[in-house]
Amino acid sequence: MSHPEISVIIPVYNEEAGLQTLFDRLYPALDALGTSYEVVFINDGSRDRSAAMLRAQFQQRPDTTRVILFAANAGQHMAIMAGFEHCRGDIAVTIDADLQNPPEEIGKLVAKMREGYDYVGSIRKDRQDSAFRRYASRAMNGLRERITRIKMTDQGCMLRAYSRAIVNAINSCREVSTFIPALAYSFAQRPTEIEVAHEERHAGESKYSLYSLIRLNFDLMTGFSLLPLQFFSLAGIAISLLSALFVVFLALRRLFVGPEAEGVFTLFGIVFFLIGIVLFGVGLIGEYVGRVYLQVRHRPRYLVDALLEQAVSTPSGSGATIDSVLSSKQDSSK
Ligand code: UDP
Ligand code: MG
Repeated sequence: MSHPEISVIIPVYNEEAGLQTLFDRLYPALDALGTSYEVVFINDGSRDRSAAMLRAQFQQRPDTTRVILFAANAGQHMAIMAGFEHCRGDIAVTIDADLQNPPEEIGKLVAKMREGYDYVGSIRKDRQDSAFRRYASRAMNGLRERITRIKMTDQGCMLRAYSRAIVNAINSCREVSTFIPALAYSFAQRPTEIEVAHEERHAGESKYSLYSLIRLNFDLMTGFSLLPLQFFSLAGIAISLLSALFVVFLALRRLFVGPEAEGVFTLFGIVFFLIGIVLFGVGLIGEYVGRVYLQVRHRPRYLVDALLEQAVSTPSGSGATIDSVLSSKQDSSK
């Protein structure tokens, strides 16, 4: 299938226990949609039989299956990045391999995309995870809402659909750690959200330890906001300016009141002055680091959706031929 309508992208990490059930539910669900599709599996360096099972599935359904085998574990979001680079569909749908998001819901996302949205997020109805995960997730959603410009109800739900234009934009990003739903949102023009069912993990255990969950949330917060850095740099600059005023105040007191507390205040003045210089320097470095960080992420500086312009007229032609270009959804331009 060279150019299907739907590409389903599935990262797989040590999922041998549930993969067969996934195959048995996924393909019939996609066949039922009655449109062309491909399934792109990314084996994220599994240490169990997942890779062998994906190879076997490829032998069985070579027309609709594509498999990318990573040599080592790179993380769920990098696996999805690889899927985006290799997928060929107009609509890319990401879904987890553990059947927590039922594949039968893919049709709902596709229907929404066909209405003209370019990003369909999802909200887990009756989320089937531990209480700790649900509360922590609500707190992180709240924090993200405040410090970034990304608006999502349920950032953790990976059952999402993206347009070809968004996939192309993501493919032009070179960052080494990211959070796909947020990155995609930053490129979306018409995003929307729908509710989807959520089930318990069918087999195996969550592949995220507490540590990797914390790392993932750092990727999200630092990848989409400079606020933590800017908070410190601005606070450093503000405190150093205040201490400069204090030094002036102490110097004036020395002139008009004379030496106090045996010169301790003068010593204070000198110390505050030096601390002020250091904090100011830290604040300035913070601002430079923020700019370096923006630069090294290599995200596209802007995305051109279409270009309307008159074609350049040839000298021999009598009148200019108006040939306005209404090319829709051009590829991202750097
Ligand atoms: N996954 C992956 N690489 C990893 C961790 C997870 O490809 O390093 C895949 C995993 O196989 C699953 C999806 O990402 O398809 C979501 O993982 P999981 O269900 O363990 O996360 P949770 O639902 O607990 O957030
Ligand atoms: Mg899961």
